[in-house]
Amino acid sequence: METKRVLLDAKEIPTAWYNIQPDLPEPPPPVLHPGTKKPVGPQGLAPIFPMALIEQEMSQEPWIEIPREVRDVLAIWRPTPLVRATNLERALKTPARIYFKDESGSPPGSHKPNTAVAQAYYNKKEGVQRLTTETGAGQWGSALSFACKMFDIECKVYMVKVSYHQKPYRRSMMQLWGGTVTPSPSEETQAGRNVLAADPDSPGSLGIAISEAVEAAVSREDTKYTLGSVLNHVLLHQTVIGLEAEKQFELIGDFPDVVIGCCGGGSNFAGLAFPFLAHKLKGKDIRFVGAEPCSCPTMSRGEYRYDFGDTTMLTPLIKMYTLGHSFVPPGIHAGGLRYHGMAPLVSLAVRLGLVEAAAFHQLECFEAAKLFAATEGTIPAPETSHAIRAAVVEAIRCREENKEECILVGFSGHGLCDLGAYDRYLAGELQDYEYPQEKIEAAIAELPQID
Ligand SMILES: *Cc1c(COP(=O)(O)O)cnc(C)c1O
Repeated sequence: METKRVLLDAKEIPTAWYNIQPDLPEPPPPVLHPGTKKPVGPQGLAPIFPMALIEQEMSQEPWIEIPREVRDVLAIWRPTPLVRATNLERALKTPARIYFKDESGSPPGSHKPNTAVAQAYYNKKEGVQRLTTETGAGQWGSALSFACKMFDIECKVYMVKVSYHQKPYRRSMMQLWGGTVTPSPSEETQAGRNVLAADPDSPGSLGIAISEAVEAAVSREDTKYTLGSVLNHVLLHQTVIGLEAEKQFELIGDFPDVVIGCCGGGSNFAGLAFPFLAHKLKGKDIRFVGAEPCSCPTMSRGEYRYDFGDTTMLTPLIKMYTLGHSFVPPGIHAGGLRYHGMAPLVSLAVRLGLVEAAAFHQLECFEAAKLFAATEGTIPAPETSHAIRAAVVEAIRCREENKEECILVGFSGHGLCDLGAYDRYLAGELQDYEYPQEKIEAAIAELPQID
């Protein structure tokens, strides 16, 4: 039998995260205070994050040790398999070798607990007893609830109200892991009460839920806030994905020519790509493709500018590819890819020409997901289907150019809680959506002017 799954022993779980910051040709521009527009120092972030994570956010050390306690929890599902997609290769009649790094086997079913576990650990260590966060469809909220349960701290999740009612299964997961889930907007915070006073039937939004979660964190001494993507320390924690993949390729004597991941805030893509990007920075010829939806084309059609991380303009200003904080993406099913900005480190890599962006329509992604399920078995999350689509495009190019390239794809999560979306796809109810240029320009016109 040919090798299908490349597996590592628990001893091979990485002992240090890879920090790409010191290796990039130029440093990422500083994060700015939303009022003074001056760089934010560590103290500026202390009310919402523990010091260890703030240090990681700004660290120039290339390697940061992963605490033993964190590795013990990661060992529940890590190392994750690197799988050769032989059936998909045959179906596409491609000479390319396609491998996927499968993050769907974690308890919540995605890459997100890689950072949730680390964040819960450092908060616990600094005496924090309660963490808050926001969640849309529930991927991040479920990962954080699981992580908090592992370290015995409370988890409070503000879940966008429409999703709370439409997507009950991730809510059940959060509750099983002991998380308290509140539909947002809620009566519990001033931000929530303000929204409800103006519109008692508000369906909620990620922006409102962020405001509630931040307010709930700063108003209590024992509570801090967490974010599931975008920030440097989140991307850092995700590098276990690429570091394991590097070892797995070494075992089988192969190495990727193209590395592909889907990009919402950029964390699973960066986690897989950055350890390989280190090779490119040393001269190796590798391509990197970040796959995003045409309906939220942050890297393909956004601008590299300072912008707020949230819709309500409360967060510090970060330099990133952005469609504008007032950009409202249409309700596509890849909820995790509907973010107006992109991680500053991924944005800088795109800006420097190290990473290519590729935008795909929802229908072609579902079609690729269906082909993947029909060949490799696992049903991808709608977010993940964007990476699969990009891999199919690369594999077809290899067929046409008769090239035996090695393609590595990040399989960020399974779609078993997203079967409603697949139902609508199978019923022919889904449509493609190209964001109109005027609307992008209108949102970009509202960006703060920073020189
Ligand atoms: C949240 C999520 C994403 C997008 O987030 P990134 O930070 O860009 O990785 C992608 N895939 C899955 C399965 C997710 O849950």
